[in-house]
Amino acid sequence: MYATGGMNEAPYMSVNKKILVINTGGTIGMVPTPQGYAPQKEAFHALLDALPELHFDAMPRWDIVDMDPLLDSSNITVVEWNAIGRMIAGHYDAYDGFVILHGTDTMAYTASALSFMLRNSRKPVILTGSQIPLCEIRNDARDNIITALLIAASDHIHEVCLYFGGKLLRGNRTIKYSADDLIAFESPNYPPLAEAGIAIRINRAALLPPARGRFCLQPLKNVPIGVIKVFPGIQFELFDSIMTERLRGIVIETFGAGNIPGHANALLPIIRKASDNGTIIIVCSQCPHGAVSLGAYETSSALRSAGAVSGYDITTEAAVAKLYYLFSRGLSTDEIRARMERSLRGEMTVAR
Ligand code: ASP
Repeated sequence: MYATGGMNEAPYMSVNKKILVINTGGTIGMVPTPQGYAPQKEAFHALLDALPELHFDAMPRWDIVDMDPLLDSSNITVVEWNAIGRMIAGHYDAYDGFVILHGTDTMAYTASALSFMLRNSRKPVILTGSQIPLCEIRNDARDNIITALLIAASDHIHEVCLYFGGKLLRGNRTIKYSADDLIAFESPNYPPLAEAGIAIRINRAALLPPARGRFCLQPLKNVPIGVIKVFPGIQFELFDSIMTERLRGIVIETFGAGNIPGHANALLPIIRKASDNGTIIIVCSQCPHGAVSLGAYETSSALRSAGAVSGYDITTEAAVAKLYYLFSRGLSTDEIRARMERSLRGEMTVAR
């Protein structure tokens, strides 16, 4: 059965839609070179031109722009996030949706960053890539591009998403969880926004409503941010000067529901000093699934009293991106702290 209508299926009414594809690099467009796979613009464009489905009448019309240079996504930084943001903002009125082709390694970070940077965006922004390049006979690139383009032409999606391996996920809820599976991404604390089986079934109840207000781009500043993963035997005193003098935002990946080792007495004065200096410390869990609940155990309640804020079920990727975003807006420390504990783009489930 090939279903195309119905309430929860993406209507293929893409013909009058215009999508901008922004190619940033990544495996999807790489070709073999003597040094290993590397992105190559001309070869990739030739492969896209030769893919008949991309030129079917039922497809939206699309144009492609390439970032210069094309990058393996391990090299993507705030500079490239700003460049992608500017490309979207500069073409915002001319296109109905955007597909960002991106390496898988840091796609979850870029998706999270764009979800914050594109303030009041109502258009679909779909990141995708592949584990096997389009130039190979067996590849996941073909479906990922075709389906991402169809979804970018949907009237229902108003947010930044990641499409990969048959699932459309909220961008700022994603993690890359497999280095070699074709289903490489997960959204451990939020259901898929759509699943592409025989039909593309949209889970409307999970979607964000269209934003109100004027669209604008918030560029990011390269604020010093750190991630500290707690482990048995961690010597917190080694982190003292970096936490209290160097970093402005810190994501602490704690055990389970927000627990730190009992000898954390060493950590608490550091957190207190860092907080007093205006550093924002957000507590996340090392468990991909579930949320931090500060105060549920004795080992976590002290974190809050020392000045840390709860990340609930936010991913580390989204926490990092949110810190960059809030610091870049020039808000006061109290405002940043308050917003870190509020969901701004559906990135966290706040416990009541
Ligand atoms: N290293 C590549 C990248 O992230 C991996 C990939 O695209 O799958 O750019």
